[in-house]
Amino acid sequence: MQRTILSLVEKYITLSGEAPLMGHPAYLIRFSGCNLDCAFCDTPYRNEENIRISAADLIADIQAHTHEYPQLIILCTGGEPLLQKYRQALIYIIDKLPRLQFYIETNGTIPVPETNRANCHYIVDWKAPSAEAGVPFAETNLKQLKHEKDCIKIVTGPEDLDWAKKTIACIKKSNPQLPVFISPVWGKLSLSQLAEFILTNKLPVSLSFQLHKLIWGAHTRGV
Ligand code: SF4
Repeated sequence: MQRTILSLVEKYITLSGEAPLMGHPAYLIRFSGCNLDCAFCDTPYRNEENIRISAADLIADIQAHTHEYPQLIILCTGGEPLLQKYRQALIYIIDKLPRLQFYIETNGTIPVPETNRANCHYIVDWKAPSAEAGVPFAETNLKQLKHEKDCIKIVTGPEDLDWAKKTIACIKKSNPQLPVFISPVWGKLSLSQLAEFILTNKLPVSLSFQLHKLIWGAHTRGV
């Protein structure tokens, strides 16, 4: 497993851009490739393969960076980090670094691997209709996720708000304590509109947004 070669778009040190650890320093790993082609994908370069690195070398690189900067969390994103070609190696890396906290951002259409590892956190998207993902949410994830360490994130446009309300109710019925974050499609729904939507409907969710776009601009890469 240590020789498994992983294809990455990029990796760098940044601040986590979204919930649940928005603003926290992070070692970001962007895995190449995705099983979806969302209408509002903000990572059009998701299929680039700019770094080919073995699992062992990635572990060494993470160790070197977290030695210098121990507060870093490890943020695995994409593309889709749970694609079949990555998932075993990813779990191997997480098991080899039990003192580091891994946050895996996944698009929700793939069942997450078992989540008993205390240092492995899933941030699972539930794609709104306007994303036109074309693949349904894997509903087994609702039971699989652990409320102490995982969460669901909904990114909504103005046309998705009714759907969002029903989806939040569905999540809370299945896994009542699981944290849910709701975030606006950048440029389509304002933070004030979303805040009003949450409060008017008394929704059991927290507002999130893409902090990195606010800090560095919507189209800046590598930050
Ligand atoms: S799941 Fe994410 S990376 Fe994949 S196409 Fe959709 S928005 Fe883009």
